[in-house]
Amino acid sequence: MTRWLAEYAWLPEHAEPTPDVLIEAEDGRITGVAPLVGGGAPTAGIEVLRDAVRLPGLTLPGLANAHSHAFHRALRGRTHDGRGDFWSWRNGMYDVAARLDPDSYLALARAAYAEMALAGITCVGEFHYLHHGPDGTPYADPNAMGAALVEAAAHAGIRLTLLDACYLTATVDGEPLDGAQRRFGDGDALRWAERVDAFRPEDDHARVGAAIHSVRAVPAEQLATVAGWADRNGVPLHVHLSEQPAENDACRAEHGRTPTRLLADHGVLGRHTTAVHATHPTSADLTLLGDSRTGVCLCPTTERDLADGIGPARRMAEAGSPLSLGSDSHAVVDLFEEARAVELDERLRTRRRGHFTPAELFTAATVAGHAALGWADAGRLAVGDRADLVTVRLDSARTAGVPPVGAFFAATAADVTHVVVDGRAVVADGRHLTVDVPAELRTAIAEVTP
Ligand SMILES: [Zn+2]
Repeated sequence: MTRWLAEYAWLPEHAEPTPDVLIEAEDGRITGVAPLVGGGAPTAGIEVLRDAVRLPGLTLPGLANAHSHAFHRALRGRTHDGRGDFWSWRNGMYDVAARLDPDSYLALARAAYAEMALAGITCVGEFHYLHHGPDGTPYADPNAMGAALVEAAAHAGIRLTLLDACYLTATVDGEPLDGAQRRFGDGDALRWAERVDAFRPEDDHARVGAAIHSVRAVPAEQLATVAGWADRNGVPLHVHLSEQPAENDACRAEHGRTPTRLLADHGVLGRHTTAVHATHPTSADLTLLGDSRTGVCLCPTTERDLADGIGPARRMAEAGSPLSLGSDSHAVVDLFEEARAVELDERLRTRRRGHFTPAELFTAATVAGHAALGWADAGRLAVGDRADLVTVRLDSARTAGVPPVGAFFAATAADVTHVVVDGRAVVADGRHLTVDVPAELRTAIAEVTP
């Protein structure tokens, strides 16, 4: 049994944090959550409080990063010279993709995931499409690259949902994969399913889910194969959706309908599906997403970095789509920044304030993200849930004087001091306990960049 005494803890369904909360865990599960005042007596007397680990500041449940491409971390700060857009950025991304092998992928992902742990992220959804050797030839183990990601997450001390992405074509009208893209392809959706079926990580920290890269990358008649595989296996299905107006235009030209409508017509939408970005939906698209309870993963720091635009977050939430958050290209790894950007971007667009409550942003960063990744028992400080604790200091230059409820508008990832994942300490006093994060990032990135 481990006990912590949190100066403040944000409990499920609460509009704001509660002071002085005793949290108990055993075998990686929360076994007790008791506010010292007004929440029922703690399970034992004063001795219990004496040996509880003190957590000064605000303790949150684990943060979930619902959309990641680990290797994009190598691009941070390297793509800002000259003009360009998403498509020119993509060329730089392909240069890194072409250089990776299972060993360098493991080293880079391990460092990137350890950076996430430092930021309070206890679970990541890795949208994985870098499957094969540089010319498209499978490795001896056709899941060697996925296995590297699973191992990387274990080293970093966080959980992983490997969203294995089906990626078959270069364009909506079926142009074949070319250049670095050849590494992504399995030929057709049945062969994708065969490969993914054969991948069964045995470690408890990792699960396999499915992804459709986008309507550009999976021909319409093969969408149902991927959706059916996810459905049969009861796993989450993620898909990049309408990140760019060009994707909408190409889809309309080829299929006479929007990407969202195309996915709906092929059985891709539903409560186990998460649309990533959904930056440029029509009103009818919003209804399709909301009515089917399809989730939307917003990645505001990447969307601004790539000049994508601003998705209609409030309208998506109103329509019925649960919102989660992702750091996607890792231009920034900071879920506090992603969360407040959901509100602040709405302010820029509407020139009005107050679209999302702090509790709604907290939900997106925690329980909704875990649910989108297939971990229904994580993201809440509640008995029976996984013992993930993330403590944010309230005495830094950024957070001093800030009321605990304002943490999502003031704190940064650098304010995270303690992180516990499944009952195990991963970060203490702001330091990762097993990975020298800056050193490993420096070395791993030098290996795969010009
Ligand atoms: Zn992405």
